[in-house]
Amino acid sequence: MKRIAVLTSGGDAPGMNAAIRAIVRTGLDKGWEMFGVHNGYSGLISGEIAPLGARDVGGIIQKGGTMLGSARCREFETEEGRRKALAQMEQQGIGGLIVIGGNGSQTGAYELSRMGFPVVGVASTIDNDLYGSDITIGVQTAMDVALEAIDRLKVTASSHHRAFLLEVMGRKCGYLALMAGIAGGAEAIMIPEQKTDPEKVAADLRKAYDNGKAHAIIVVAEGAQNNADGMAQYFQIHRERLGFELRVTKLGHVQRGGSPGSFDRILGTQLGAAATEAMEKGNKGVLMGTIKGEIAATPLDVVVNNKKDLDLRLLELAKVLAT
Ligand code: ATP
Repeated sequence: MKRIAVLTSGGDAPGMNAAIRAIVRTGLDKGWEMFGVHNGYSGLISGEIAPLGARDVGGIIQKGGTMLGSARCREFETEEGRRKALAQMEQQGIGGLIVIGGNGSQTGAYELSRMGFPVVGVASTIDNDLYGSDITIGVQTAMDVALEAIDRLKVTASSHHRAFLLEVMGRKCGYLALMAGIAGGAEAIMIPEQKTDPEKVAADLRKAYDNGKAHAIIVVAEGAQNNADGMAQYFQIHRERLGFELRVTKLGHVQRGGSPGSFDRILGTQLGAAATEAMEKGNKGVLMGTIKGEIAATPLDVVVNNKKDLDLRLLELAKVLAT
């Protein structure tokens, strides 16, 4: 009988629980013994590995976060750390590992598979910056949270004729900011992939008022060159000259905690089931994601050695639509 373990690593994302549930139940259906690793790679190194039955993953599909806990673990980035993890799995007779997580987590999965251990990845991060999956688990729910915040800010912005800035997550990738900005009809969008001059943004907001708009909303990714703090400072210093105030809201971890929407529950379920399928077929060292609407396996070396590009034409479109 096969013993397969699952872990969640890096930032938690709504829909991870749906993936865990699908992995455990499809694995049990194949006659395997299933195990959960608590607290990501850190728990793998310290041996926090426990059996998971069908009932253990009951009542979690509607919950955000991850029932297994997640962690960031520097030790796993060393070969010595990974050897300790391998020893723990050997001790428990674990013959395969499924890793649910983003870029860093899949790099860890790749390193482990290079040491000869069977690993399958599941694409999950709210940043949507993972090569090998057009959309990753958690993005849709996080975007809906950001969108609701934009819609709410627009109402109060219109009432008070104020400019509002909303900072959303995205250290290196502006996907969330761009898409939420488009869906929310933002007047300006600032992302890490493109430099934006605060003076130009101020001019765009001024134009929005001159064109008869009652509100002006900027959506900025936290990793943009001028993020919420930078913009707030700029508008404070130049307040007299610019002629209006900027109110800043940072969404922060509120975006992560939402109950997963239907899309992320289904995506998590499908990718989880596809991961056990891949493991059964001996298709190891791959990431399960969706490409052009289909579930697809991409070799982990391709995943970690490629960067997913953002379609910057959408930024240009957003500028046109903001007029
Ligand atoms: P998110 O995109 O949501 O932040 P992530 O998976 O990219 O998720 P990271 O913090 O980048 O999150 O990585 C999670 C963990 O993956 C790290 O704490 C580390 O244990 C492991 N990891 C990252 N890079 C490597 C590496 N080069 N080699 C081995 N393990 C790594």
